[in-house]
Order: sequence, then C-alpha cells, then structure tokens
Amino acid sequence: MNKILVTGALGQIGSELVVKLREIYGADHVVATDLRSSAHEITRSGPFELLDVTNAKAMFEIAKRYEVDTVIHLAALLSATAEEKPLLAWNLNMGGLMNALEISRELGCQLFTPSSIGAFGPSTPKDNTPQDTIQRPNTMYGVNKVSGELLCDYYFHKYGLDTRGLRFPGLISHMTPPGGGTTDYAVEIYYAAVTTGRYTSYIAKGTDMDMMYMPDALNAIIDLMEADSSRLIHRNSFNVTAMSVDPEAIAAAIREEFPRFILDYDVDPKRQAIADSWPHSIDATAARTEWGFHARYDLKAMTKDMLSQLSERQM
Ligand code: NAD
Repeated sequence: MNKILVTGALGQIGSELVVKLREIYGADHVVATDLRSSAHEITRSGPFELLDVTNAKAMFEIAKRYEVDTVIHLAALLSATAEEKPLLAWNLNMGGLMNALEISRELGCQLFTPSSIGAFGPSTPKDNTPQDTIQRPNTMYGVNKVSGELLCDYYFHKYGLDTRGLRFPGLISHMTPPGGGTTDYAVEIYYAAVTTGRYTSYIAKGTDMDMMYMPDALNAIIDLMEADSSRLIHRNSFNVTAMSVDPEAIAAAIREEFPRFILDYDVDPKRQAIADSWPHSIDATAARTEWGFHARYDLKAMTKDMLSQLSERQM
C-alpha cells in the first residue's frame, strides 16, 4: 500500500482507519471519501472528496487523479438497515463493490473490502464455524456479503486482481457510533453504562455472537493488506474474531468497573431474527496461520478501555 483511496470513510471503521493509515503512510497518501461531509478531523487532516460509490465515473476520476494503488472499499448499508431497505442495499452494496472492482482492475490497484459474520446463515455450523463451510444466509446483507466474497475471488482468479477481505464480527468502538448493524447493542451498552448506568438490550439474553475491539480490526486490515501474497491460500474472506459474548457477559464485565450497572431486555424480533441466523463463534485459524492474525483485546481488556475512554469524554 502506498496511495490509498478509502470509501465510506466517515463511518464507524473508516473514521478511525483513515487516521491510522495517515499516521503510517502519510496524510497525503490517504484519500478519504464519503457520500456526505462532516466536521470530522479526517476531512481536514488530508485529502477528502465527496463520492457516491454507485457513481463509477466519479470513483474512477478520483482514483486516477490521486494515482491510487490501493482501494479500501467500506461504503455499505449494514445488516439491520439493509433488511429494512433491501433494494437500496442491493444497489449500494453490490453496485458500489462492482465499481470498486472494475476501477481497481483498470488502474491495477490492490482492493480490500470487508465481509461479515452475516455471510453465514441458519444452516451454517454455529459453533467454531469453519473458514470454509455452508453459506446460505437468509438476509439481504448476508446475500450481499456472500456475493461480494465470490465476486472478489472471481476478479482474483480471472484478472489476477489482488483482492483481500475479512469476515468481521460485531465491531466495538468509542469514536464513531455504529451505522445500523445487528451488533450495535454491544457498543450502545458501554455508552449507557457511563451515562445512565442502565441499558435495555434489543438482543436477547443468551445470544452469543462474535465481537472484536476496533484497534484489533484496524490492525487486521493493515496486516492482511501487507501480508505476503504467496502465503494466502484464502482471500475473500478470512474469519476473524476476538471473543464470543452475549449481553449478560458484557454486562458482567461492565459490573467489574461499574458494580451498579443494570441490564434489562426489550427484544426486537427483527434484529433478533438476524442474530439467530448468525454463528455463535467462528474459527479464525486460517487468518492466524496464513498471515498471523492476532487479537490483543479480550472482553475484559476491551471493557476497561471502552469505559475509561467514554468516562474521560464525559468529564
Ligand atoms: P457505517 O455504516 O458506520 O459507515 C458507512 C459509511 O458509508 C457512512 O459514512 C456512509 O455515509 C457511507 N455511505 C453510505 N452510502 C454511500 C454511498 N452511496 N457512497 C459513498 N459512501 C456511502 O459502516 P462501517 O461500520 O464503517 O462498515 C464498513 C464496512 O464494514 C461495511 O462493508 C460493513 O458491512 C463492514 N462491516 C462492519 C461491521 C461493524 O461492526 N461495523 C461488521 C462487519 C462488517
């Protein structure tokens, strides 16, 4: 990676990834783009362009003008929102990815795009879900993610395009709020802990899902993109995870710092149905052996850091 274009850069992942990439590769080497603008520092700390990823011509023009050699394609509609707006999800998630693939092919770029644990479905083995397994998701988001994985592999095999991806679990962070995913509760619960001291979960007790802290997710993207291509047996996409937790487990970890924290439930059947179709815990052995994936934060370490960062901001 030398000159990097990031789409959807103002989202939960992009807003932190761009800061880290600019620290490593230089501010001028990371072109942040999004459909919208904001007062976020990444719109001022280096190149920022308004870009709708469904507009292939505009994406091509920006990529060519900045002479990028890497595309990190993040713009997407997330699981819960995609289920509410399936047609928009298909057009954005597949149309945007197809444009990113074509532009990367034309300009000879390396391409990263995230998949998700949503790429699995109800018939996938739920515990220790293998890297290579049944993928028959029953959500629009899942259909988009599986199609995206297949498309990226297709471009690698057909055109030699250097496509790489990660199946992210729910990502937990304190900088930018999540954008409409099924695991958003696992972020909201920390904000609630430091503000009101209680949280009502829309995900039911006992619903185990994989999660990971944002610093580990950012390192995983960079480590995978910098990995020696000849070591990669898989490409699109690698299972990665740091923990498998349910709302009770997070609440128990929070209570170690804030003993009076209260958790109750008002389950949202729509988001619960999505969660029920996903694995309980995924196996990240392929990521570990092929490019050295390693998550530094477990539930305890993540909870300590989340609560301290959010409490500091409260003061
Ligand atoms: P987000 O919803 O926080 O951000 C998405 C960004 O895309 C937003 O800033 C939005 O303005 C932008 N966007 C929307 N439509 C656009 C368009 N037409 N053109 C350009 N930009 C547009 O998402 P995120 O959490 O940062 O996720 C990024 C990627 O990672 C997605 O592919 C998502 O599926 C994947 N992922 C995220 C998680 C997670 O927990 N956050 C987990 C698994 C996979």
